Amino acid sequence: MGPLPTPAEAEARIRDRVRALPVESRPLASLAGAVLAQSVRAERDQPPFDRVTMDGIAISSEAWRGGLRRFRIAGIQAAGHPPLALPDAESCLEVMTGAVLPAGCDSVVPVELLSVTDGWADVDESARVEPFGNVHTRGLDCREGDMLIARGTRLGAPEIAVLASAGLPRANVHADPRIIIVATGDELVEPGEPIEGWQVRRSNSYALRGALALRGFSRVADDHLPDDPQVLRDRLAAHLDTHDVLVLTGGVSMGRYDHVPNTLRDLGVEEVFHRVAQRPGKPMWFGVAGKGQAVFGLPGNPVSALVCLVRYVVPGLLAAIGAQPLPVEAVPLGAPHQVRPPLSFFLPVQLERSPTLGLVAMPKPTRGSGDFISLLGTDGFVELPPGPADYPVGYLAPFYRW
Ligand code: AMP
Ligand code: MG
Repeated sequence: MGPLPTPAEAEARIRDRVRALPVESRPLASLAGAVLAQSVRAERDQPPFDRVTMDGIAISSEAWRGGLRRFRIAGIQAAGHPPLALPDAESCLEVMTGAVLPAGCDSVVPVELLSVTDGWADVDESARVEPFGNVHTRGLDCREGDMLIARGTRLGAPEIAVLASAGLPRANVHADPRIIIVATGDELVEPGEPIEGWQVRRSNSYALRGALALRGFSRVADDHLPDDPQVLRDRLAAHLDTHDVLVLTGGVSMGRYDHVPNTLRDLGVEEVFHRVAQRPGKPMWFGVAGKGQAVFGLPGNPVSALVCLVRYVVPGLLAAIGAQPLPVEAVPLGAPHQVRPPLSFFLPVQLERSPTLGLVAMPKPTRGSGDFISLLGTDGFVELPPGPADYPVGYLAPFYRW
C-alpha cells in the first residue's frame, strides 16, 4: 500500500471521478444553487423604458430653465400604465416610482421639493432640475440580446432575478443529486425510540442531512442498516439503483464488523481510495459504481463523519451539479495549537473578533472523534498540515464551515 492521500489529494480524486448529472428544466422557484446549463440573453433593453425613479412630477426641463416654477398638474402617470403625454410645457404630470416617463417630459422633481395645492405644483427653488434627472433611461443597464449569464454559472439571487427579467419561466440546469444517507451499526437507535444502556442514538444522519440542507441539497433519503453483510449487500444494491450519491456512515474501519468496504467491492463499486492521511476521519472511503454513482463511506464517529462530509462529500456534490469548487477562506488562528501526529489535522474552531487580528479561529479541540458535544458553539474547522508542528497565533489556516 502506497502512502495515504492527503486531504487535498483525496478531494482532487473525488472531483476527478464525480461527473456532472444530466441537464433538466426547472421552474424559476426551484433554481437557487443550481448550475446553469444554458446561456441567457436579455429579452429587452433594461430598463425597458425611461423609468421614473422618484415619486413626484414629470416636467420639461426646458420650461424650468426658462424660469417656470409653478406647473399645472395635467394628470397622473402610475406604474404599469401606458405613457401619457404632456399637453404643454407649462404643465406637469404626477408620476410614481416605476412609471414610464410621460412623452414630452425629460425630468422628474421629487415630491419632497413640491407644494401641491388645487391642482398646481410649486417647485422649491433649491430643486436641481436637469435632463433625465431622477429617470433611469431605457437600455442603460443592458441592451436587448446582450449576453447576461453564461452557461456554468451557479444561480444565486441576482442570477434568478435576471432569468425572470429575461422572461424565462424555467431554465436548464444540472439535476440535483438524489442522495441517500445510510447509517450502519447494530448499536444505533432512532431518537424517540426506547434505548438500552449499551446503545447509542442515531445522530449522524440528522447532522449530515442538516449540513446538506444548509447547502441547498434537499433530495435526501435515509436508511439504517445493521452490521450484517447480507443485509448491507441487498439494501446497498437497491440504493445504488435509485440514487446518484450514497453517503454511508460507520463500518469502514478495521473492526470485525466493519463490512462496508468489502460489501461495496462485492457490489462492483470501484474503490478510489480507502483511508486519508488525516485526523479525525482516517478510515474515510470513496468509490464509484458502474453507472457513475458516487459512494462515500464516512467513519461513524460523529466528529469524523461531519468533518468528512464537509471536506469531501460537499465538493463531490458540487461536482455532481457541475459547480466550481467554492473558494476556501483562510482564517488566522486565535490561539496556538500543536499537532503531533504526521497527519493533517482538522481542528474545530469558533470564529471570534480579535482587536489586533480581526476575524480569528479559536481552537476548540474535542476529546476525540466521538466527542460531538464539544462541537456545540463551533462554526466549523480549520485544516492544519501534518505534525509534529506548533502553529502560532495568526497562522493562516483554511477554514471550512459546518
Ligand atoms: P464505526 O465507524 O462504525 O466503527 O463507528 C464508530 C463510532 O461511531 C461508534 O462508537 C459508533 O457507535 C458511532 N456511530 C456510528 N454511526 C453513528 C451514527 N449514525 N450516529 C451516532 N454515532 C454513530
Ligand atoms: Mg459501526
